Amino acid sequence: MYLQRSKGIVIKSYDFGEGHRIVIILTRRLGKVRAVAKGSRRIKSKFGASLEPLTVNEFMLYRKPKRELSIITGANTVRSNLILREDMRIYAYCALMLESVDILTTQDNPHPGVYDLLAGSLEEISAGGQVPAVTWLFIFKLLKVAGYRLDFFECPACGRKDFKKPRFFPGEGSLYCRRYSHRKGVSWPLSAEVPAAIKKLSIEYVISKKAQGEIGNIIKKFIKYEFGKKLKSINFLERILNEDKRVDMNLKVMKEKNVFSGTDNPAK
Ligand SMILES: [Zn+2]
Repeated sequence: MYLQRSKGIVIKSYDFGEGHRIVIILTRRLGKVRAVAKGSRRIKSKFGASLEPLTVNEFMLYRKPKRELSIITGANTVRSNLILREDMRIYAYCALMLESVDILTTQDNPHPGVYDLLAGSLEEISAGGQVPAVTWLFIFKLLKVAGYRLDFFECPACGRKDFKKPRFFPGEGSLYCRRYSHRKGVSWPLSAEVPAAIKKLSIEYVISKKAQGEIGNIIKKFIKYEFGKKLKSINFLERILNEDKRVDMNLKVMKEKNVFSGTDNPAK
């Protein structure tokens, strides 16, 4: 059976050869798939906008034995997620989710849990969820699924759960209380507010601006520490956040909306 069918989210796509496009797809049933859409850059291409990042399609794929690359024979859009691509700031956060998925998943390895996590997070943002909160929680969960230890809730040395001046040790993925924070190894200070904010994230997608910044920084540093490089999407996100104050105002409005809808919309 080399004809395959699965729902999938476009992770990235780029031009290839004479009018073709390479598309990286996270499918629910087959895992991450690299596929080629032939002639998809031609004006009357049957694929239309279905190969844009973040689009959810029902894909029809054909794969020859022992080939790494599948051929996309059909893509019926289930969800265009256009709303996530129109606002650069929202798109920048989504791009970080997509790049993280691309880095942390391998081809031919089904990850239905990661698919559901990504699909659910994108739906949450489409529904007006607080974008940084959804993104950071997504990355926490993704890193955990990928086998990284990240524990912000209990000091491994003494079991303390209420932290004062804690330090995060990325090598262990643990947060140590002040008393045990002088141990060897790379560590970063965090405010005591952060563990509480992370805990709150798993109940609802709303966190303070200060905690957003701190959690974002720790995740960015952690990714750089683990992967040895800064992700392209993080550079992109930082540029957007620094430059576009106007979008910042829009998000403020969204955030206010979210505060009111938060109680009706508990996190999954
Ligand atoms: Zn301790």
